[in-house]
Amino acid sequence: MGTIEQFNKYVMHSYGRYDLVMDKGEGRCAEDENGKEYIDFGSGIGTNSLGYCNEDWVNAVYEQARKLQHTSNYYYTKVQADFAKALCETAGYTDMFFGNSGAEANECAIKIARKYSFDKYGKGRHNIITLVNSFHGRTLCTLSATGQDVFHNYFFPFVEGFINVEANNIDDLRAKLDDTVCAVMFEYIQGEGGVMALDKEFVNKIFKLCAEKDVLTIADEVQTGVGRTGKFLAGDHFGHKTDLTTLAKGLAGGVPIGVCLSGEKCANVLTPGTHGSTFGGNPICCAGGLAVLNKVNSEGFLDEVTKKGEYIREKLLQIPEVKSVSGMGLMIGIELKTKSAADVVKAALGEGLLLLTAKTKVRLLPPLTITYEEIDKGLAILEKLLK
Ligand SMILES: *Cc1c(COP(=O)(O)O)cnc(C)c1O
Repeated sequence: MGTIEQFNKYVMHSYGRYDLVMDKGEGRCAEDENGKEYIDFGSGIGTNSLGYCNEDWVNAVYEQARKLQHTSNYYYTKVQADFAKALCETAGYTDMFFGNSGAEANECAIKIARKYSFDKYGKGRHNIITLVNSFHGRTLCTLSATGQDVFHNYFFPFVEGFINVEANNIDDLRAKLDDTVCAVMFEYIQGEGGVMALDKEFVNKIFKLCAEKDVLTIADEVQTGVGRTGKFLAGDHFGHKTDLTTLAKGLAGGVPIGVCLSGEKCANVLTPGTHGSTFGGNPICCAGGLAVLNKVNSEGFLDEVTKKGEYIREKLLQIPEVKSVSGMGLMIGIELKTKSAADVVKAALGEGLLLLTAKTKVRLLPPLTITYEEIDKGLAILEKLLK
């Protein structure tokens, strides 16, 4: 039996997968089981931020696996302490919680928001505003938070206490931000929703209204964080710092991690016994995360991400089939004039290029370490497909 048949026989069919069996990778190229190479403009799915098998990252993960692969969260480890310090200092937060995925990071933020409000104001102030077209994860709670009706099927009853506001609609926000609300949660650039950045004015208003009412701000930077947009956090482009920020996808270079960062205001909301995770803060993942942070914090690295993003944007806008380009840094959405994004992504596989979609757009999340030569090679393939 071939890999695909065997896989489909035993694994539930919850994904629409391409007929491609990935075998290995090196640098910014992936290779399938037949030895065919692909330039990866998706970093897996925003996860392999340093590309495949970056030497420093491999060494860090390997050394940690040889030393201590896991221990209970009843004990302390140095690698967790080192990673937590580096991450908090880099991101400009005081405290953090360790989980294993974006959804878990968001669950943590939601729990903190509700407990913060409960501790201070008592019951009845539990609602969280999220935006229409947002994406916050696949657990029941984060699905409930997700502001897209297509996700609100089958699994009833959903978790109560989420109110959707239209992105960039200040009147809608003002009308719904009443005394039952404890937090506003948003992506600065909606990723799955189509690589749509929020308006600066709308973001300013969120912070202003929330400050007036002691309502917490939560940024879901699971996709936009860790240098993806050319700054460590997308919030840095907007000049704001939320009370809580969640990170995951690219944070540990391709091993599972999710964190919730907090400023001083919410630093002591979680008390012993109120939250936890068996694998949260896994030492191997922390070692991988430290390697990513070292790289992202190295001199000039984020400026390069910005420059490469601008380079790609400029080239894309010269392609007649491209209608518009959205996003920031190396998070790029491409709106096409006539072709379907899904068809383009499928055709690209045949040509040795991995792309992603976001709604009706082609989405690029290339490794932050991608070279100009690889960018040119990938864009040449894309240009050919868009002829
Ligand atoms: C991917 C994503 C999530 C979910 O992360 P998982 O690791 O799949 O749980 C949540 N929020 C945003 C913005 C994402 O892009």
